Amino acid sequence: MKEFIPVLSRRGALQLGSVVLLLGVQHIARGTTIMAVRVWPSRDYTRLTIESDGELKARQFFVADPPRLAVDIEGIDLIPALRELVAKVKSDDPNISRIRVGQHAPGVVRLVMDLKQPMLPQVFTLKPVAAYQYRLVFDLYPAQAPDPLEALIAERLAGRQPEASPPQSAATDPLGDLMVQQSGKAPNNAASSSGRPANSKPALETATMAKGEAQVKTDRLVIVALDPGHGGEDSGAIGPGGTREKDVVLQIAHRLRDRINQQPNMRAYLTRDTDFFVPLNVRVQKARRVQADLFISLHADAFFTDRPQGASVFALSEKGASSSAARWIANKENSADLVGGVNVKARDEVVQKALLDMSTTAQIKDSLKLGSAMLGEISHVGRLHKGRVEQASFAVLKAPDIPSVLVETAFISNPDEEARLRSEDYQVQLADALMRGIMRYFARNPPLARSRAL
Ligand SMILES: [Zn+2]
Repeated sequence: MKEFIPVLSRRGALQLGSVVLLLGVQHIARGTTIMAVRVWPSRDYTRLTIESDGELKARQFFVADPPRLAVDIEGIDLIPALRELVAKVKSDDPNISRIRVGQHAPGVVRLVMDLKQPMLPQVFTLKPVAAYQYRLVFDLYPAQAPDPLEALIAERLAGRQPEASPPQSAATDPLGDLMVQQSGKAPNNAASSSGRPANSKPALETATMAKGEAQVKTDRLVIVALDPGHGGEDSGAIGPGGTREKDVVLQIAHRLRDRINQQPNMRAYLTRDTDFFVPLNVRVQKARRVQADLFISLHADAFFTDRPQGASVFALSEKGASSSAARWIANKENSADLVGGVNVKARDEVVQKALLDMSTTAQIKDSLKLGSAMLGEISHVGRLHKGRVEQASFAVLKAPDIPSVLVETAFISNPDEEARLRSEDYQVQLADALMRGIMRYFARNPPLARSRAL
């Protein structure tokens, strides 16, 4: 069994012990009120949030066998809201089996989380932002992180016909298993700065469109990353009727996923498939990890007034926004991490720096083509806010090697459009339109042979 990595070093624990001794519980600020407790389970990680009107202090420690995390929260007493936390953990939570709460000492509540597997926890606090007051956050990451590529492969294998013969490379190359072996020319290795072969179309790949129904023909599996915006603590925009952006964009993503997966050589990969928060940079990393061919972020915009309407499609900009509205929307979407809540200390700055240093010129060119194809199709099923693809500095569109667009499907702040976003009818039309846009893009820009080992 894998060893636990304790949250506190022994020295740290000793120091904390002495601090508690010096202060004594009676000196710790009392009277903090718990506003809410929330649990967001997912396969990636389970988050627990305790929201309060003052900052809470927590000390945590691991017990290895059986795996559990104990947390002492100071300055509060056991109240019904905390007892509710116990009931909020569902038996199908991938990471937590149950929570126990108890009054450990006067003003100190102890939570014990019984874990289903070894975990790497992140415990951090967030200052008040948007509608939230102070938040104490526990993110429980499985010590063995699920591999998205392996999950795709497993899915692919499960759907495979039994008579299909296993490709030779299956044992060594994780994606090789998903690809039909190339029988002709070797892949073009003249990669441009974006990692794609420059000015060349692989000989083995063609795309055809017949009877309005497009089909991408390629010698390998094409992966489309779908990125439903927001999630978990971050509801995104909320319509006048209470519709939450995070819910409708997930529904639309599921519909689009089904259409993509109906194609024999395409597979959708969702950056989140349930209701949990994914930081913006993690969305990009996830798509790169599965070597997605496209990245499509789905949103539903809001404005202060209920008048604005129509869909927009955005690509990245290297030199400022194409309009002030585009800049405003990018700023708004980029603030998702503040609301969703990220542990700033745990950010992978090395990866971020590497991403920033890579050129996105070729990516933007492809993204604009993809965006126009999608915009053209959306115009057949709904109104457009702007007739052309706009550009701004969206954090989520910064994968340097994946054509990436952000679709604002409609204005959720407009009552008519909110109703449409909720309706199955419109979601189906929209998913069909987005799918046609993807196929139109691939018809003109066939997916390239992978030029590197995975
Ligand atoms: Zn959004």
